[in-house]
Amino acid sequence: MTRKVTKRRPAQEQDKLIFTALQESGRPVSAYEIIDQLRDRATLAPQTVYRALDRLIASGSAHRLESLNAFVACCQSTHKGAGAAVFAICDDCGTVSEFAEPRAVEALASWAKKAKYTVRAMTLELRGRCSACTARMA
Ligand SMILES: [Zn+2]
Ligand SMILES: [Zn+2]
Repeated sequence: MTRKVTKRRPAQEQDKLIFTALQESGRPVSAYEIIDQLRDRATLAPQTVYRALDRLIASGSAHRLESLNAFVACCQSTHKGAGAAVFAICDDCGTVSEFAEPRAVEALASWAKKAKYTVRAMTLELRGRCSACTARMA
């Protein structure tokens, strides 16, 4: 299978551009928000952005938040490529905190093993209110 490369920007450069956009936004963004954000710097087709996001996710540099249908830059250099990430999403201010909870991930992996279930992706998302918003509401 051959793929004709007609884009003027090499994949690596695209990935870097999109990763930078994710880091700059500092919150979960959709592919279309990324395109908007980079409008001054590049004209990107949605499929170009999705392909770059797929590569960034595969390498552990970014994550997809299923419940928001949005993407974030990985903020834990330690778990790059390790797969599962845990997120706490604030429904009020939209802040997303990424953290590692190896015990939760191990528990789920061990269930999958027992159930002979093959895990393709694991994203744990907590929905609720962050500490700052909780304090503000009190
Ligand atoms: Zn991560
Ligand atoms: Zn909040």
